[in-house]
This record gives sequence, C-alpha cells and structure tokens, in this order.
Amino acid sequence: MSKNLTKRSEDYSKWYNELVVKADLAENSAVRGCMVIKPYGYAIWEKMQAELDRKFKETGHQNAYFPLFVPKSLFEAEEKNAEGFAKECAVVTHYRLKTDPEDASKLIVDPKAKLEEELIVRPTSEAIIWNTYKGWVQSYRDLPILINQWANVVRWEMRTRLFLRTAEFLWQEGHTAHETRQEAIAETEQMNNVYADFAENFMAIPVIKGRKTESERFAGAEDTYCIEALMQDGKALQAGTSHFLGQNFAKAFDVKFTSKEGKLDYVWATSWGVSTRLMGALIMTHSDDNGLVLPPNLAPIQVVIVPIYKGEEQLNQISEVADELVNELRGKGISVKFDNRDTHRPGAKFAQYELQGVPLRIAIGPKDLEKGTVELARRDTLSKQFVNKDEVVDTIGSLLEEIQKSLHEKATQFRDDHITEVSSFDEFKEVLESKGGFISAHWDGTVETEQKIKELTKATIRCIPFDAKEENGSCVYSGKPSKERVLFAKAY
Ligand code: AMP
Repeated sequence: MSKNLTKRSEDYSKWYNELVVKADLAENSAVRGCMVIKPYGYAIWEKMQAELDRKFKETGHQNAYFPLFVPKSLFEAEEKNAEGFAKECAVVTHYRLKTDPEDASKLIVDPKAKLEEELIVRPTSEAIIWNTYKGWVQSYRDLPILINQWANVVRWEMRTRLFLRTAEFLWQEGHTAHETRQEAIAETEQMNNVYADFAENFMAIPVIKGRKTESERFAGAEDTYCIEALMQDGKALQAGTSHFLGQNFAKAFDVKFTSKEGKLDYVWATSWGVSTRLMGALIMTHSDDNGLVLPPNLAPIQVVIVPIYKGEEQLNQISEVADELVNELRGKGISVKFDNRDTHRPGAKFAQYELQGVPLRIAIGPKDLEKGTVELARRDTLSKQFVNKDEVVDTIGSLLEEIQKSLHEKATQFRDDHITEVSSFDEFKEVLESKGGFISAHWDGTVETEQKIKELTKATIRCIPFDAKEENGSCVYSGKPSKERVLFAKAY
C-alpha cells in the first residue's frame, strides 16, 4: 500500500479523494456517480449504523422496509416534494430486454415491455410510505407510528464526490405519524438531538443545531432542522436533517384519523435521515496528511499488534505475548488484530495502519521480550511510549477514552476558531476568502438577499442556530433590520 498522500495544504480535495481510495474505504465504479464501498469503509459505516440503530430503538422506533420503486402517480401526489426531487429522478420505463435483431450480441429494450405506469427509483420514501400508512391508520389508537428504514436511495446528482454526494447512497430514513402538531414537532426536535448527540459523542464531530431557511428546506416540509459540521478546509457540511412535514403528506395521501373526541383530522408527520455522507464528515474532521484518523468508537480495529522479529523462533516467542494480550483486550471488549503476516515487513504494516487510522499500535520486538515491555504508538498524536506488559491493557483502555475525547476537543477548538462575526458585506467577503468557516451575520430574512449573497460569494445560509440570541442589527447585505444572526458558509 503506497502511502504518500497529497498534503492537505496543497490540494485539500485531492488529499480527500486519495485518502478515500488509499485507506481502502471506497472507490468509483463503472456507474457514474455510484461508488463501491470497500470492506474497511463498510465496517466503519456498520459501526455508525449499529449505534444509530440502538439510539432509534431506545427512542421507541422500529425498523421496516418499503419498496425501492415509487409509482409515478404516488410520487406526484405531494406536489412540492415531487417538484423538488423531479430533476434528479431515475425512472424505470420498461421491464424487459430482447436481442437486437440487427446485432445478436446486443440487447435492446423490448418496446412491447413498456410499463403502463412509470416507476421512480426512490430519491426519498415519503410517497410510498404515506400511501402505505393510509391503510394503517383509522383512529388515534393507531398512532403514533414510529418507523425507520435502512435503505439505499437514488438522486441523479450531476457533480458527485465519494461519500459526500453520490447518485446512489445508503442512509436511514425515519418516517413517523402523530396525532398532534406539537407531538410531531417534539419528534422532529428529538431526532435532530439524537443526530447531534451521535455526531458529538460517538463520531467526535462538533455540530451546530439549527433550522434551515425556506430555500434550503426539504421539499414538502414545513420546517427542516439540521446539524451542520465544519470541515478542516473551512467548508460546512450538512451532516443530518430532521423534517417537520406538517399535514402535507397526510393530505396528499388522505391519511385521516378519528381523535379521542371523535373528530376526524389529518395525521401529522416527520421524516429524518443521515447518510453515508457521514463518512465524508468523519474523514474531513479528524484525518491528517498521513491518512485517516479514527475516533476509537468508530475504528473497526482499535489496536493492532505488529511483531518485529527475525526467524521463526523469535516470532513464536513474540506470538505468545501477543496472543495473551489479544485475549485480555478482547475480554475487555476492545477490538484488536495481531498482524503476524510474514509477507509484509513491519515498516509496511506501520504505514498501512497509519493510513487506515487504527487508533493504537503495539510493536513487540526481541528487546521488549527481554525487558517485559511493548511499544505503544498513538495514531492521533503520532506519539510513542514504552509500557510494561502488565500495565498495557489498562493503559490501552484509558488511552482509547482519551483519544476519543481529545479528537472531539481538537475539532471543537477548530470549529470555534472558525466562527466569525461580521458586520459589513466587505468584511463578510474578506473573511470568507481568507479564513472560511462559518460567518455569523445579520440577514433580513428574505429569499432575495439569501440568493444574492449566494450568487456573489457562493456562501449559503447553513442554519439559523437554535441558540442564536436575540440581537438587533442590520442585514449585512441589504441593511434592513434583523433580530438575530444566522450562519453562512461555503458548503459541500
Ligand atoms: P434529505 O432527505 O435531503 O434531508 O437528506 C437526508 C440526509 O442525506 C442529509 O443528511 C443529507 O446531507 C444526506 N444527503 C443528501 N443528498 C446526498 C447525496 N447525494 N449523497 C450523500 N448524502 C446525501
């Protein structure tokens, strides 16, 4: 595995693409915009899935599965949703191929096998799910419905990047149905908080919770909440969204219920999702010029043991120590790999695990056998120490916790250093160009101003933070009055 990555300071985007491929996370495929997620990358995604799934169940949700295809008539039912996604839909029109009469080695679409109704490959599943909920809900006793689906979706994106924006991506989508507006809003908030908690405490990624402006809102939603993260190059990344859908989908699919008081009303809805984009967030928050840096919570291998030996006898002696360590560490729930391959030299192994972000590396050589020590190296700080064999298990336990915490602190410090309050448009542009990051500025609340700023600077409003304090000011662009600051940034 060759190591040399482009440096982040030279070309951040190139560094990212190289890292994804060289660390064996994913690669481009024969299908434009669609990626192959490789076993190491998939193992990290599985760790994310497991923790999210646990959190969803803890908050009362169950998993279910709905079809990949949405009949066009259903897709059209909620107009705003349909209009918002129409431009990026893959559409199935035929269900059969046949041999080309002019070239027997080729297949062509059989014109006789045209579908009566076209099928949309789901870009999101509200339509098919709300059409299903219609049959499930009659009275308040049938509510709430708290369902999550793990699935793939397709959005025909024109400009794609591995993990960050792909035409097909993996995600989870929660779809819930409630009796009241308040209950649905509380659910929207709860799930945004679940995402924030997951990002901060599991992925060590600091996020800002807030609400999207009208133009950035999910098509068909009344309100979109989000978590926004900041990448090392000063660009923002939308890491998760939670939507309050009002009664829009219930009205589109005629989903009504009889309340306790005997009144007929439309059901209230939410939907919420995070995707494989989180892999991109992970990489661009913690990694460095040597490769991936993984928070221990997400590392498929938390500790790797590399033997340094000459000849079989030495390897056998080292293996004895290593096997014992492996057992003890596994007993503590720590994932560990003893890399005793004799096809690779220790140096190559070190380089590989550094590139792949394994949090801790143990090296054991003949000198260590004599002294009863091992060499322990941290991936995040690249520091090394010798530790007594008897103390190594405890040391590893506390180091893994420390690394998790210190990655979060480092990223939080970086994020906080990159939130700049500005009071004029000149200052806005200057900070955006020189430093990047989030720009905290007053905005007059209009779509026109938001659009104009986007045209002029490429920066968009990432969110109106929930913790924004009331503050009288004037819009950084129009000079009109404003009551709170919003966060602008260039974004992925
Ligand atoms: P949405 O349904 O648009 O609210 O998106 C749900 C989640 O999927 C958000 O966290 C988005 O950031 C993410 N997402 C949207 N489009 C893509 C894409 N093309 N590739 C990867 N993730 C995406």
